[in-house]
Formats: sequence, structure tokens, C-alpha cells
Amino acid sequence: MIKELEILNQMQKCDDIITGKSILTKTLPQELNCLIQNLEESNKKLAQIENKLEENLKFQKLKELDIKSNKEKIEKYKNQLLMIKTNKEYKALNSEISHLETKNSEIDDEQIVLMEEESNIRLQLEADKKVQKDAEDELKANEEKLKKKIEEVEKEIAEIRNKRNLLAEGLPRQLIRRYAALIKNKGRKAVVFNENNACSGCGYQIRPQLVIEINEGKKILNCENCGRILVPKLIEK
Ligand SMILES: [Zn+2]
Repeated sequence: MIKELEILNQMQKCDDIITGKSILTKTLPQELNCLIQNLEESNKKLAQIENKLEENLKFQKLKELDIKSNKEKIEKYKNQLLMIKTNKEYKALNSEISHLETKNSEIDDEQIVLMEEESNIRLQLEADKKVQKDAEDELKANEEKLKKKIEEVEKEIAEIRNKRNLLAEGLPRQLIRRYAALIKNKGRKAVVFNENNACSGCGYQIRPQLVIEINEGKKILNCENCGRILVPKLIEK
């Protein structure tokens, strides 16, 4: 077999490895991003529930203040009652007192609802804290590993690409360009072989005369359907 075909075959082997490893350069960063996003989402959820608790406690505090101020008023009115002279005034003040007492009892009911809500919020808060901690731990445990793996894969790809480019130096420029165009446009497969008299790239039946020529390995031959470079099967082994 001529040297060019051997070189092309070796280059394709390099590109096959690059193709395989290139998948990792996509999936590994995706994996890392996924962990980062998980943590961000759990942080966000935790902040939301913390806000909700803060709001709830603020409302409870306001209600307490309302009750306190109403009680003070009631106290004051009751003292005033003792000094009142007319029946009309007495009635008016008494009705004000009873109005404030009703109001306080309503606020009490609202407080109970808020306290129930608070205990539910605290349960959710604990659950969200755990989710956040898990997400944090998972990222911590994997971030460095994944970053290192990404670096390694990138380095390996660079090395193999370098090896392929060195191999390419043994080929005429035109052939390198043809190879590169096939890699780019034909699913990263430029060099294919004769597989039971069919192109291993596209499955197109190869003419018997062409099969003979391919097996001789003396010429750069192309599949008549997909245009890829055909080499004898034996060097694939
Ligand atoms: Zn083909």
C-alpha cells in the first residue's frame, strides 16, 4: 500500500479518538454546570423561604403590637369610665371598649393562623437547608475532579491533534485539504474501507473493478457515492 494511504488511515484513527473525546469536552462541562445550577437553585429556594419566615415573624410582631396598644386603650377607657357622668358618654365608651376587645380577639385568631404558618415554614426551611447542603457538598466533591478531567481530555485531544498534524506533513497539501474537508463535512469520517464490497461510510456498493484497485492500495480512490477516501479493509484491523 502506498505511503499516503497509510498516513491517511493513521490520521483517521487520530480523528476517531478526537471525535470520541470531543463528546467528553461537552458532557463534562455540562455535568459541572448541572451541579452549579443545582446549588444556585437551592440557594434561591432557601433565600425565598427565609424571607417568608421573616415576613411571617414581622406580621406576628405587628399583631402583638396591635393587641398591646388595644389593651392599653381598653385600660385607659376603663379608668375613664369611673369618672364619667352621663349615661350617654358611659354607653359610648363601653361600646368602644367592647369593640376593641372584639378586635383583639380577632387579632388573636389571626395570630394563631400566622403561628401555624410559621411552623410549616420552619419545616420547609429545614428541608430546603438539607437540599442546599447536599447540593453544596456534591459540588464541592466533584468540582475539582471534573475540572481536572476536562483539562486532561483537552490536553489529550491537543496531543492527538498534534500527532495527526505531524502525520499530515507527509502528505501533499491538496490531499490534506481534501481530508480536512471530508472530516468537516462527512461526520468526521474521511477515510473508509471496503466492507464486503460496500463503502463502510455510506454503504454504497463498490464496482468490482474499483474493489480490485482499492485492494491493490496503489491509488487514492474515492467512494463514488459519498466521496470519502477508500482504503483496503486489511489496514483497519
Ligand atoms: Zn461512501
